[in-house]
Amino acid sequence: MQNKLMTAELKAFLISIGSVSIDPSLVPFALGSTAGPGAGTSSVFFRSGKRRVRLSINKDSPLSIENVGEDGTFSLFMEGEELVRGTLEPALAHCPEQAFITLCERCIFDCKYCPVPKLQGHVKSNKEVLDIVDDVFRTGNLKAISLTSGVENSVQGEVDRVLKLLPALKKYNVPIGVSVYPTEGCSKQFYEAGVSEVKYNVETMDPGIFKQVCGDLSLAYILKKLEEAVGIFGKNRVFSNFIIGLGESDSAVRDGVETLAKLGVIPILRPINPHPLRAGACFAERPSRERLLKLAKMEKAILVKYGLNSGLAKTMCLRCTGCDLVPFVDL
Ligand code: SF4
Repeated sequence: MQNKLMTAELKAFLISIGSVSIDPSLVPFALGSTAGPGAGTSSVFFRSGKRRVRLSINKDSPLSIENVGEDGTFSLFMEGEELVRGTLEPALAHCPEQAFITLCERCIFDCKYCPVPKLQGHVKSNKEVLDIVDDVFRTGNLKAISLTSGVENSVQGEVDRVLKLLPALKKYNVPIGVSVYPTEGCSKQFYEAGVSEVKYNVETMDPGIFKQVCGDLSLAYILKKLEEAVGIFGKNRVFSNFIIGLGESDSAVRDGVETLAKLGVIPILRPINPHPLRAGACFAERPSRERLLKLAKMEKAILVKYGLNSGLAKTMCLRCTGCDLVPFVDL
């Protein structure tokens, strides 16, 4: 059993379930997630070979993790059957090897799947953010800084919040990624301030579903800002979350991935995480293992066609890979 490593198929299965039960005392640095649809849960990062998966902790999950060796080896079980062995990774600031910080845990928008507007959480001061980066830096494991934010009062306010922080982050000498709702000219400002990569989320590429679930936002505007960002940051440096499980068809996903890739944008196919605070607000169904594998393979073929490679990312989710099947890394 020593070398039972995670395959792409097994990772797809684990993502399709999305949760695990574990004795909380075994979890290294599990922090509450405050970003996007995973907000309000605690997670664990399980690594096996080159693959990493993030699972939210839920004592009722059919999956469980147990310590099986003095050497820090853990096993992941499905209803008593051992599936894979690996290690648990510390995630001091949201995910391993990064300081991935949500600046503002509030939002004035009302995307129907997202719990953030309901939670109306904390807004971090600049000092709090810099203290978190310092904490990760002191572990010797800071490989990237990633910043994201809800919208406290205005989208421009969040861009300004990021721009204000950036000068103080340069001294860490690691790549910086930023994910916010884009404003006119923000990509150029971020680039000039030392940002390496940006992620502006389309959320879905199905226009009908977009209107239903993200009615406050404009898909056409986000696509325009993504295109501009590629002109500034270059290929392989601009990303966009594309949620899977809002009722979109596979062919809508294919068309959407192709549209984004044609612009030079790498989509992150993100399984929906139905949240109790949003029960019934919109269609939300976590994709099956089979669908996740099919869509990831389809995405890889499209990325190849447009000369894109998600394995080159330096920051944010494509660097982490915990929540998604990532082409060029997982398959
Ligand atoms: S893939 Fe992204 S959202 Fe998921 S744990 Fe990693 S950084 Fe966080």
